[in-house]
Amino acid sequence: MPISKILIANRGEIALRIHRAAHEMGIKTVAVHSTADADAMHVRLADQAVCIGPPPAIDSYLNIPNIISAAEISGADAIHPGYGFLSENARFAEIVEMHNLVWIGPKPEHIRTMGDKVEAKHTAGKLGLPLVPGSDGAVSDSEEAHRIAAEIGYPVIIKAASGGGGRGMKVCNGPDELDSLIAQAGSEAKAAFGDATVYLEKYLGNPRHIEFQIFGDGNGNAIHLGERDCSLQRRHQKVLEEAPSPVITPEERARMGGVVARAMADMGYRGAGTIEFLWEAGKFYFIEMNTRLQVEHPVTEAITGLDLVREQIRIADGHGLTLRQQDVQFRGHAIECRINAEDPRSFAPSPGLVKSYHTPGGMHVRVDSGLYAGYRIPPYYDSMIAKLIVYGTTRAGALRRLRRALEEFAIDGIKTTIPLHQALLDDPEFQAGDYTIKWLEEWLARQEG
Ligand code: ADP
Repeated sequence: MPISKILIANRGEIALRIHRAAHEMGIKTVAVHSTADADAMHVRLADQAVCIGPPPAIDSYLNIPNIISAAEISGADAIHPGYGFLSENARFAEIVEMHNLVWIGPKPEHIRTMGDKVEAKHTAGKLGLPLVPGSDGAVSDSEEAHRIAAEIGYPVIIKAASGGGGRGMKVCNGPDELDSLIAQAGSEAKAAFGDATVYLEKYLGNPRHIEFQIFGDGNGNAIHLGERDCSLQRRHQKVLEEAPSPVITPEERARMGGVVARAMADMGYRGAGTIEFLWEAGKFYFIEMNTRLQVEHPVTEAITGLDLVREQIRIADGHGLTLRQQDVQFRGHAIECRINAEDPRSFAPSPGLVKSYHTPGGMHVRVDSGLYAGYRIPPYYDSMIAKLIVYGTTRAGALRRLRRALEEFAIDGIKTTIPLHQALLDDPEFQAGDYTIKWLEEWLARQEG
């Protein structure tokens, strides 16, 4: 039986994004929401809506029994998890399948393997992906940690095996601080992720973050859709993304894309995935894989013309890949700005009533957002409220269009990071594409000074 009704186990712009793809495919949607999101746009637009609990995510968007009940009550036959929340929870994927619902995502065993960063690195290494030099697995005793750190050379980065969202990482500059930082990282990881396992990696001095989008059919076929450059980060969190990367040549894209697609084919990977690399002096180093749709997927859609959510749904429904690698064409340049409800200087959250709202439009301008005038942004969730994506035939053209689109964007009643993006656009280094993962924080420090 083909998928006819999808329950969207998420909120905000991504819930709306999934709803749109489903409706364009003639598939009905079920929104689930906390009591704080009863007025959300995706709840209004979905064919059915079910309240799954009070505002804290742990009681609603992470509440597996309530989400499964909502699917059964509403007669949904598939679940799309979006990103965040339960999207990388292998147990949830298994429970969904146990209830004879279609899981619009990768095989649970692949979610599990890639969700443990130590195992993910092992697997990536076996599949032939280049790794950041580091410990071969978890580090448990001090003597071993010192030996490995000396071998790979300081500075090293201590990472939590279960870490995510840019959390659970500590940079260590020398042997005298290694023991205390490992202990600290371990106890923080235990508190945040329920798992104290940590591992060591060489801390790369000034890399770019470059990730490849892949799709697999689950039967040994996989393609890549090129890379995204996500080097503009604050506290390891992405702020602006672009595709293609200003530093990757078509030859390098084809070569590295081929390597990742082959790895995913060998694995038998199913659905959408992202292989994240650090890139320094022309070399790629695998850091992790995300087994879900990414926030920044629209830049890939803009340069390939492919609807990635539609592709996910088709694969889950057993239709395989729409395109062969040789059919994938890259055209032009796309940039995405993440717009947060935050003070653009202090980054303090700024939830509240959106008094008026006007989005930019025109050729090659896309806004993914659940906002509307009169909407009250609840204080309980992530502060990202909109994504502005522009396309141009060249990077310079995309930058000009972005400037124009940001000028048109009007959100009143709350503070947003629109002014931050406008200031960034004025910077000659950013304009030249000349930036690494450290650049934005240094730039922000200069603005303060
Ligand atoms: P998370 O799962 O929390 O996002 P990642 O492993 O993807 O963690 O790393 C997030 C960011 O942290 C990277 O984009 C990069 O900015 C920084 N980072 C991670 N590993 C290293 C490293 N070995 N050297 C330098 N920076 C790193």
